[in-house]
Amino acid sequence: MNTNRNAKIVATLGPASSDKDTIRALFAAGVNVFRLNFSHGTQSDHAHRHKLLRDLEIETGRPICILQDLQGPKIRVGTLENEGFNVQIGETVRFVPDGKDGTKEAIPLPHREVFAAVAPKHSMFIDDGRVRLSVTGVSDEEITTRVLVGGTISNRKGVNLPDTLLELSPLTEKDREDLEFGLNLGVDYVALSFVQRPSDVIEGRGLVDGRAGVMTKIEKPLAFDRINDIISLSDAVMVARGDLGVEIPPEEVPGRQKELIHACRMSGTPVIVATQMLDSMVSAPAPTRAEASDVATAIYDGADAVMLSAESASGDYPVEAVAMMDRIIATTERHHSYQTIVKALEQVIEPSAQHAISAAAAQVAKNIDAKAIVAFTSSGTTAYRIARERPEVPIISITPNLDIARQLALLWGAHSIRSADVTDYDQMVEEAVKHARADGFAENNDQVVIVSGVPFGVPGSTNNLRVAVT
Ligand code: PGA
Ligand code: MN
Repeated sequence: MNTNRNAKIVATLGPASSDKDTIRALFAAGVNVFRLNFSHGTQSDHAHRHKLLRDLEIETGRPICILQDLQGPKIRVGTLENEGFNVQIGETVRFVPDGKDGTKEAIPLPHREVFAAVAPKHSMFIDDGRVRLSVTGVSDEEITTRVLVGGTISNRKGVNLPDTLLELSPLTEKDREDLEFGLNLGVDYVALSFVQRPSDVIEGRGLVDGRAGVMTKIEKPLAFDRINDIISLSDAVMVARGDLGVEIPPEEVPGRQKELIHACRMSGTPVIVATQMLDSMVSAPAPTRAEASDVATAIYDGADAVMLSAESASGDYPVEAVAMMDRIIATTERHHSYQTIVKALEQVIEPSAQHAISAAAAQVAKNIDAKAIVAFTSSGTTAYRIARERPEVPIISITPNLDIARQLALLWGAHSIRSADVTDYDQMVEEAVKHARADGFAENNDQVVIVSGVPFGVPGSTNNLRVAVT
């Protein structure tokens, strides 16, 4: 099974895509990573999806990566009189920590941390930025604001505070329960929402405790202050353009996307571009030209993966959206402009054999027109190093560790295989050739480049590059 593209597809499961046949069709259309969005649905909904995915993994014999996305500390207003009301430009609106009536004079905002951290002139956005307020005064018991952009404030609407550093853990009580639940199911990545600073990632890592990869969602402008530290603490990153695009002006999102993908690629950390990529396919069988172009841009940027949210979770065309994404990726990667654009990145030089051999493998594969690079990897690191080079041939990563094999499904260009450790050199060559041929990457008398560490099975021992004829 050779999919003919390097960038991966992440698809969110939801009410439109939780039966066995639809999940199977999504996988067949090209999904590499399935996202369980814990902002919606019950734990038992997610357990059901998880089970169907693990069944599908057995049925297909292909590692499937499952991403648990935690809701995080999303701030919301409480319950309002008559379910909500209109506010107009210039009006004064007040928030209180535990108001009962929910009037304009006392909108309940049941998050004490906000009262402690907000300051005059900070922005408060309600309902994805539809209503915009500016803070004029604050005490422990109330926040006074002036309306800059009017509209409706209704029950439980989300509140974004782009200027305010909140003394909030990135994991709420609900997140902690969901996290334990997800780890017990056996998810492969856990995504942390609304990360503000490196210590948030450290806290998340502590709780995950090596049981899954930690993905950081970048959706708070404050995260950019120490973005390189945040990236180096993360196993993967998501450019979460939905909330990010509320907290910063939309015209700044494309530049931030480029900046984030660049920083992640330099560090060799997988990066996903998320939200509204094919948004009109929620209700239409085809995307707009602008959406096709948005997916292509992420591919030219060299992102590891692009993501579907509502398109696959609750839309009318979940499978068509995946098929469309697959076509846009494959077509973009084949366009003659692709190689020069995706390769326009400073070279990273790390003084380690592992890195040097990985970089050399990409070069050798290109020079001899090899059909694949086969990487034997126990921790996955060698595959990440090779992928960072964005080589012109597929990477077949072979690991005995099932958890690593699943995580590698997210990695750019990696065709992930789980297979028992090889024990000697001849067997290594045989296995590499066997997999390259069986999965359609190579035919008789093609060449493959093999990267491994001798002695076998020792993590971080990459020291060997071999060319083999298939
Ligand atoms: P969400 O995250 O869908 O969980 O909000 C993605 C985003 O904000 O873009
Ligand atoms: Mn978000």
